Amino acid sequence: MVASANLGFPRIGLRRELKKALEEHWAGRRTEAQLLEAAAALRREAWSLQQRLGVASIPSNDFSLYDHVLDTCAMLGAVPTRYAWDGITVDLDTYFAMARGRKAGGPKPGAPAMEMTKWFDTNYHYIVPEFEAGQRFRFASNKVLDEFLEARDLGLRTRPVLLGPVSFLLRGKAKSPEVQPLMLLDAALLVYGEVLRRLKAAGAEWVQLDEPCLVLDLDPEARAAYVAAYASLRAQAPGLRLMLATYFGDLGENLTLAMDLAVDGLHLDLQRAPGQLERALAQAPGWLTLSLGVVDGRNVWRSDLRRLGDFVDRAVQARGADRVQVAPSCSLLHAPLDLELETRLDAELRSWLAFGRQKLEEVVVLARAASGETAAVAAALAENRAAMESRRTSTRIHDAAVGARMERVGEELLRRAAAYPERRRAQQERLRLPPLPTTTIGSFPQTAAVRAARAEWRAGKRSEAQYREYLEAEIAACVRFQEEAGLDVLVHGEFERGDMVEFFAEQLRGYAQTEHGWVQSFGSRYVKPPILFGDVSRPAAMSVRWSAYAQSLTARPVKGMLTGPVTMLQWSFVRDDQPRAETALQLALAVRDEVADLERAGIRLIQIDEPAMREGLPLRRAEWPGYLDWAVRAFRLASSGVRNETQIHTHMCYAEFGDIIEAVAALDADALSIETSRSQMELLGAFGRYRYPNGIGPGVYDIHSPRVPTRQEMVDLLRKALAVLAADQLWVNPDCGLKTRRWEEVRPALLEMVAAAREVRAGLT
Ligand code: GLN
Ligand code: ZN
Repeated sequence: MVASANLGFPRIGLRRELKKALEEHWAGRRTEAQLLEAAAALRREAWSLQQRLGVASIPSNDFSLYDHVLDTCAMLGAVPTRYAWDGITVDLDTYFAMARGRKAGGPKPGAPAMEMTKWFDTNYHYIVPEFEAGQRFRFASNKVLDEFLEARDLGLRTRPVLLGPVSFLLRGKAKSPEVQPLMLLDAALLVYGEVLRRLKAAGAEWVQLDEPCLVLDLDPEARAAYVAAYASLRAQAPGLRLMLATYFGDLGENLTLAMDLAVDGLHLDLQRAPGQLERALAQAPGWLTLSLGVVDGRNVWRSDLRRLGDFVDRAVQARGADRVQVAPSCSLLHAPLDLELETRLDAELRSWLAFGRQKLEEVVVLARAASGETAAVAAALAENRAAMESRRTSTRIHDAAVGARMERVGEELLRRAAAYPERRRAQQERLRLPPLPTTTIGSFPQTAAVRAARAEWRAGKRSEAQYREYLEAEIAACVRFQEEAGLDVLVHGEFERGDMVEFFAEQLRGYAQTEHGWVQSFGSRYVKPPILFGDVSRPAAMSVRWSAYAQSLTARPVKGMLTGPVTMLQWSFVRDDQPRAETALQLALAVRDEVADLERAGIRLIQIDEPAMREGLPLRRAEWPGYLDWAVRAFRLASSGVRNETQIHTHMCYAEFGDIIEAVAALDADALSIETSRSQMELLGAFGRYRYPNGIGPGVYDIHSPRVPTRQEMVDLLRKALAVLAADQLWVNPDCGLKTRRWEEVRPALLEMVAAAREVRAGLT
């Protein structure tokens, strides 16, 4: 029998119950016991659903109240000193203090939260483990055991999931020069060993150890750590079977390493890296169970079961049915939960989609088909084939006009008419900006009132005209404020946008929105990415009316504000039937049209935001050049259609850019605003060394903090910047949009920022 397996189920609940329970608990409106009961109910529901679907190997400990990496910190007692933990077991209060910080004034000292960053190339953020001088570990959370027993009491023997020790350490950060994460391996293994022994004693047969770091470029030390770690775990818990789970890419040169580890099973991501199946079949020792991650755990499309079935059959022929499992490519944490809830999507589009639950149905069908239950799955396979055919041939997906336009995209569309120095002269003549011009990144505070107005309009409780009037009043007030504050380049404030991707996706052809397609971003924050299903085109202008309205109110230049093609792609579920590069170019054409309309409407500066440019980088260095090449082309296609005197800006954040600076320069934007204020302009070293040629605005106001920066701090930052950049290329701006801040913070901060610019300007010779 070929077994079906799941690597992890979404935690958030069909109706986002976990969010509600957590946030009410944090607000003091739900007791700890009530929160824990809500969480237990979600686990029961997930287990029973997976049982009903017929999944043979069902995970436990995939649930988390906040984050599974934080859970692993708790398991190991890796609690930074600042939380004043008692060192016995990690209680919920300590756990949430690590996740969210703790305010001063209570019985325990105030402490900032642990750092958070993106989990590999997903949009999920994990809590970064911290390792201090003298770091020790101890078994400090019984969660893994508790959840295994909880399922056992329900009559279910689960396969508990643990983040593997090497990936845990490699994703953490040493906080002291004396510590290297891998130095802590032996200490971590003692705790892992204890957990495994206890699981075995409680009746576990298999444990899943996630080691996604195996798909990265590894140095010899990390490779040696893998060998040592798994030899130790095997020795510490003999008889317990270990499934080593890898995902998000190809094991590449680490395949042999993984095969040789002391484990009983190996999970491969065959969605991202189908080519590794043959290599694995050729090398796998006879006793190794191969788990085939064929169903895409990262996207929303139905699988082509015929194609995947061939894969599974191939593995079964080579290894025998008992040594093969079928699974999603990775945990379903990254997929929305259940398509059944989507009642507004039309039937055709729905028939092309599969969310978490549907993906498990596919896994089960594939496993049954490979086990010879042909009659039982015949109907499901036939239905799948019909859906595949409909998607392949649908005219909603394939738009001949877009295809024809794509064919005409030649190099000449990727270049501005003149080189930067000449454009600069033309722009300066037209804009007449002072040196060190001041501006913002686009959004102004999204107050509760703004959000309420949008919600009412969406619910039909506010007419189109009323909503528009409301937004125009907001824009007018925002423009007035910026004029009074003395900013040089104004913005309209983005009050019409809830989200910078959703706003455009809703207006583009080829995109659809879901009602409940939420995925966890971090903690209790979820995102609902739009679905890009077909050829993209722009039926009508999307942002022009708001920018033009703002411009009509002032003589100062108003900067148009668009989301770039790479960010649109990165933050959507995108079609899997053509290369991402091609989809990015289609998006770029749509943005290009919008840019042209803005220019025609008299907008003199246009900012095309690409905050996700850096995070789109492939996990393996060798693939960076290919990605950067098409990402740069997409941006240039979007931005190069304007006249020389129209100034193109871009904005990037959430990352360090030192290692992709050449690609950033190749965008050839006239000005770039970039996040730096938290790193105290560290980044500028790179820009200075590289001699970044065009305009650049390193953020001087950290908008991630409610703190209002002082004039002197910003003066100092500008002087630092001037040490490596020319005065005539420097812009003065915050480091990101102001939408999450309050007006009470933004008003004084921008006044100080303008004053700082004036002060430094006065000192220029
Ligand atoms: N223009 C956007 C804003 O100001 C940019 C957001 C971002 O960088 N993530 O909100
Ligand atoms: Zn930003």
